Amino acid sequence: MLQKTHSAAGLVAAEMVVMHLDVPFLSWEAAGALLLGCLAGPLADVDKQGSTMAKILFPLSALLRIIKVRHRTVTHSLLFIAALSAAVAPLPALYAWTFVAAYASHPLIDLLNEKGVQLLWPLKGKIRLLPAFLAVDTGAAEETVFRWLLLAVGLYLPLSTIPF
Ligand SMILES: [Zn+2]
Repeated sequence: MLQKTHSAAGLVAAEMVVMHLDVPFLSWEAAGALLLGCLAGPLADVDKQGSTMAKILFPLSALLRIIKVRHRTVTHSLLFIAALSAAVAPLPALYAWTFVAAYASHPLIDLLNEKGVQLLWPLKGKIRLLPAFLAVDTGAAEETVFRWLLLAVGLYLPLSTIPF
């Protein structure tokens, strides 16, 4: 999936955390969490040479290339998410949960891609949720529709908390 789709998914994940922890959307904490979600969403693609995240985090992506980490493997795995969760645990709950949820949204929606994800790394074998003819190809029209759906949810969630 494209970075912007992952940012949209990260935003929705962050909003869910904000709502779950009863943080008002019109607060600096929530704004920080939503921004964090948009950034953490595409983060796993630091393993993909040439991606925006690989460029921003150049030393890290170069290191991954040197140790021959392939795309949609370690950084997209449950084991890595568990390790990250432990690493961010000392942060305030809102930011720790937002980071983990937004990061985890990445491999989750990559499961819709026809190439699949090595979710159970170090076990080999890629997992995908949809049969090839239904899968969402990176950059294809289905992905645009999917991204608009995510953005619609991203708009709906904060609005749903306004008492009318
Ligand atoms: Zn990815």
